[in-house]
Amino acid sequence: MEFTSDAAREHWDSLLGVVPGAVVALDFDGTLSPVVDDPAAARIHDEAADALTGLAGVVRAVAVITGRPARQAIAMGDLDELGLEMRRRGTDLFVLGQYGNERWSSAERRIVSPRPPAGLASFERELPAVLRAADAADAYVEEKGLAVAVHTRRLPDPAEALARLSGPVAGLAARHGLTVEPGRHVVEVRSGSMDKGQALRMLLAEQQAEGVVFGGDDLGDVAAFEAVRALRADGLPGVVVCVASEEQPALAELADVVVEGPGGTVTMLRALAARGR
Ligand SMILES: [Mg+2]
Repeated sequence: MEFTSDAAREHWDSLLGVVPGAVVALDFDGTLSPVVDDPAAARIHDEAADALTGLAGVVRAVAVITGRPARQAIAMGDLDELGLEMRRRGTDLFVLGQYGNERWSSAERRIVSPRPPAGLASFERELPAVLRAADAADAYVEEKGLAVAVHTRRLPDPAEALARLSGPVAGLAARHGLTVEPGRHVVEVRSGSMDKGQALRMLLAEQQAEGVVFGGDDLGDVAAFEAVRALRADGLPGVVVCVASEEQPALAELADVVVEGPGGTVTMLRALAARGR
């Protein structure tokens, strides 16, 4: 675990003073699960379940906040079973899917989700023509219910392909009243009314959190990074953890702690659990 500054270390120390009242929130892909070529094949890190369970009875709540549908993240992380075990030990697990548009908790064990945003169906109908025109007809289009993700990871030059299609896809999204969320070899189109920062703020308020840790690795996590920093400026102890990746080096500048991959997330969670006992 590496602190980005002396002030960052002080933020961590402040957080350690309020661990029983803290909420620990984490992105899923790249943060708890290694990034793989086929997004459908992602699985939670081998030691993540153990590290998350270690927070049960130690912190107030644990949340996974992901762009994925909640159902997917729950399946890929065996989070239903994990949540039951955590709840037995006195801490609830939350899964906020689709950037907070869906919510699952180990207390309720069902997914609550709103209707798909207006404009998404017509966006999807017009998308293939836009991709063909951008010479990216082979991009992988993932329907996520409340969002559509266009992946270039399997194309010959993913970064170049993403640069080529991002503008046209953003234009199409704007015409249908939708927003785009750029990521690593992916651009995601969804309703603009929710992001991870807003989702995190709502959970913290509901849980009456006395501190917060948020960890993420991608551009979709920036809103949550900024939420933690803004709340901290208002007096709530908070720590931003960046799971470093070569694709998004700028994210580390917003972070207090930089870790390497999901294995680094596990190390951080274990340090937190050890200090909270
Ligand atoms: Mg991620």
